[in-house]
Amino acid sequence: MSAHAAPAPSSPYLPLFRRYLRQQGLPVTLQREVVADVVFTSQEHLSVEEIEARLKERGERIGKATIYRTMEILVRSGLVEDHDFGDGFKRYEHLFGHQPLHEHLVCTHCRTVVEFERPEVQRIQDEVAATHGFLPTRHRLEIYGLCAACQEKGVTIKYEGLACPALEVA
Ligand SMILES: [Zn+2]
Ligand SMILES: [Zn+2]
Repeated sequence: MSAHAAPAPSSPYLPLFRRYLRQQGLPVTLQREVVADVVFTSQEHLSVEEIEARLKERGERIGKATIYRTMEILVRSGLVEDHDFGDGFKRYEHLFGHQPLHEHLVCTHCRTVVEFERPEVQRIQDEVAATHGFLPTRHRLEIYGLCAACQEKGVTIKYEGLACPALEVA
């Protein structure tokens, strides 16, 4: 524990993480608990940078290596899911309290992530899988584009492909 009176980790999901660590023969450390607590008490999709910033706010100085390692364990335990929303780094969300089966809208300009839930998506997953004799376990749907706020600010979508391949040929 740091010298500051940092709040003790308090998420109701911590006992599950402790149990997983013990089952795996991994040490249950306060640092790991504090990192898990930051993720368990947030409704956002946090990057390692953001987790580090939240820890600092709590008066905890925990290195990135420990955060990465803890996130790896949390993902393996099934308590946390990782996402690659194309930022070049991962983002993490715990799987409690969120809508159980949710999809994501990702704004490629301000990086806002909005969750939505539509039973039709699950139905399509099951139908397509059945057609292929496939046994589905999960799916991911991510819709990329510009959020309403960015569009209002006049942000436009940049085209990142070839400008005009025909003109390049002399
Ligand atoms: Zn946006
Ligand atoms: Zn989510």
